[in-house]
Amino acid sequence: MPYRSLDLIFEKINQEIFQPVSVVNYPNEEDYTRITEFKHFTNSQNRDKIQNFYTILLKEYPLSYDHQKSMEPYYPVINEANIRIYQKYSSIVNIFSNFYLCGRLAEYKYYNMDTVIEKALNFAEEIKAENAVNKRHNLLKEIFLYGIIGSFSAGLDSVIFFLLRKATIHLYFSNFIGINAGILTSFILNAFINFKTTDRLLRRAVRFFSVGYIGLLLSMVIIFFGVEVLGYREIIIKIFSVIIIAVFQFTLNKIFTFRKAKIG
Ligand SMILES: Cc1cc2nc3c(=O)[nH]c(=O)nc-3n(C[C@H](O)[C@H](O)[C@H](O)COP(=O)(O)OP(=O)(O)OC[C@H]3O[C@@H](n4cnc5c(N)ncnc54)[C@H](O)[C@@H]3O)c2cc1C
Repeated sequence: MPYRSLDLIFEKINQEIFQPVSVVNYPNEEDYTRITEFKHFTNSQNRDKIQNFYTILLKEYPLSYDHQKSMEPYYPVINEANIRIYQKYSSIVNIFSNFYLCGRLAEYKYYNMDTVIEKALNFAEEIKAENAVNKRHNLLKEIFLYGIIGSFSAGLDSVIFFLLRKATIHLYFSNFIGINAGILTSFILNAFINFKTTDRLLRRAVRFFSVGYIGLLLSMVIIFFGVEVLGYREIIIKIFSVIIIAVFQFTLNKIFTFRKAKIG
């Protein structure tokens, strides 16, 4: 993008005061656009070795910005053609949901410091609020998909069990194959479709299977206590255990199995 840059030239003048105030603008025929005289900020009395007064000035000469010459892009050059170029660039990055344009360079706008700070603070609050909504929305989506995938995998487990039993495979072996096929299917679908975490697949698979088997064990403990010790009806305890195990497994899988790697 085109910018106006500046050549900042310091000058030492052998006089006590050059101008009556710290900053004077020169918008007319001079080559420079502004002079800053710093002693007005500090109220200092500058003298050299032989006690002559002097003062330091900074003159700002406008320059066209050239990014190859390590210049600073100080001021955007705001006109219709440049705004169109900027809109083209911003439409490219706008497709990224977590890429934010804020500030003088990013928005190709002139801002004063107070305005840009206020804008940055408000913008940060907006992003925080937006992220909180997205987080809730994502969690609901994950729970929903997890349920669908879980039901599908349980169905597959039953079909495999049924087919193996028809082929006169041993009861416990058929059950073992069915359960593991269900867990494996559930893992693959959750990794690729639901949580979209396909790195370090083997480690994640081991965790997913561990969570699956811990769930199985826990459900046996619940059924034992509910039915054998407390004397509740089997169906009530079974429904209760399915809900508890689903919540338990989803929570562990979300924070343990499918935890996303952090950048940086
Ligand atoms: C000469 C001049 C005088 C000014 N005088 C005043 C004044 O008297 N009063 C006033 O209120 N305001 C003044 N301003 C305006 C004020 O400086 C700006 O409003 C303010 O600095 C804008 O802050 P910003 O964070 O939006 O941008 P900047 O302060 O420009 O910050 C942008 C940062 O991004 C960095 N950056 C750029 N590209 C990349 C990249 N690709 N990767 C990583 N980092 C990158 C830059 O190095 C810079 O540090 C002046 C501005 C200029 C240029």
